[in-house]
Amino acid sequence: MTPVTAPKGVAVLGSTGSIGTTALRVLDRQRARFRVTALTANSNGALLREQARKFQPAFVGMVESQADADDAWKSGTDALISAATRDDVDIVLNAIVGAAGLDATLAALKGGKRVALANKETLVIAGDLVKQACAAGSGEVIPVDSEHSAILQCITGHPTSAVRRVVLTASGGPFRGWSAERLASATVDDALRHPTWQMGRKITIDSATLANKALEVIEAHFLFGLPYDRIDVVVHPQSVVHSFVEFIDGSVVAQMSVPTMELPVLYALTHPERVADDGVPAFDPVKLSPMTYEPVDHERFPALRLGISAGVAGGAAPAVYNAANECAVAAFLAGKIRFGDIPSAISSALDKVGDMPGGTREQLLAADAAARRYVQEMFKC
Ligand code: NAD
Ligand code: MG
Repeated sequence: MTPVTAPKGVAVLGSTGSIGTTALRVLDRQRARFRVTALTANSNGALLREQARKFQPAFVGMVESQADADDAWKSGTDALISAATRDDVDIVLNAIVGAAGLDATLAALKGGKRVALANKETLVIAGDLVKQACAAGSGEVIPVDSEHSAILQCITGHPTSAVRRVVLTASGGPFRGWSAERLASATVDDALRHPTWQMGRKITIDSATLANKALEVIEAHFLFGLPYDRIDVVVHPQSVVHSFVEFIDGSVVAQMSVPTMELPVLYALTHPERVADDGVPAFDPVKLSPMTYEPVDHERFPALRLGISAGVAGGAAPAVYNAANECAVAAFLAGKIRFGDIPSAISSALDKVGDMPGGTREQLLAADAAARRYVQEMFKC
């Protein structure tokens, strides 16, 4: 049935990426409810042009990026902010990768928009600033990350005080079961071979180190207002259960689906409503069996614990964790460092600059830049 209200305007930031293209598939099926009013990307101009022809948005931005460490946040920010604050935009789907997405999120929230947030780095770097921006106006953040979408779907209708703890699931990445020696010298191709999800290169490496899960624990802390000792992680290699919520009465509610990002993207657009959509493959518990669970091996994947400690420390530590990780992942993808160097770089950066102040955007920006400089100097890259 076609809704009677006018379609909501959606800006897709990072439209040529993995989440961006997924979102446009969803938006194409949901044209009665949503219209694409703005698109931005900083890679794959041919695809951006094709998307612009198909969706006819009023605004299209090809965003320039800068390699300079001090300017990681400033790359093409004006175009992103223009897209995110337009009058014809109701929902900003932030599908940019990395720290570059932060200012657009803050601007959209100040403008009273819903931010459908895939760009988890935004919350990791500046969770408090994002929460303040939400509290100051009518903006809101709805997660696109599958684990956080799952939690939101489970808790909607319940106060946070009814939640005893949440358990995020992790696929374990391509290196589950690898020995520490083999892991230390894993290649880029090995790390990009994710067992259950097709994603952009940066998040695929983050999934291999489990830094992605650390970012997600911090993201859950800020999204749901839960202390870190009420956020757990379990390895679930099939990626069918996207998270568990344990309530104070002992009942555990989980959200499941075949692994596809179309569902969390759609839910972030429509929450708290559910709308009909035929994009998600049918759920067959027999075909999806068995569903198994195992503990995280923190010895082999130290990036998870480092991230949780950074989250607990607060201040600029999560921003330093994120920046060091972004820098080390870029160096690994460029073939300049080994896989095992990624957690070492994060750990050293946290030791060196993790206690910088992080109360304001400027302080966080300074800590982000210091961490990037430190990792670049560490590896001479
Ligand atoms: P991707 O690399 O495939 O796409 C990133 C998009 O952002 C591209 O369109 C790119 O042109 C644009 N972009 C990159 N850097 C930019 C910059 N400096 N300025 C402006 N635009 C820039 O990444 P992705 O896998 O789609 O991930 C996007 C975000 O969503 C990340 O934060 C990731 O952690 C998160 N996420 C992704 C998935 C997934 O399945 N891919 C799942 C959950 C969360
Ligand atoms: Mg996730």
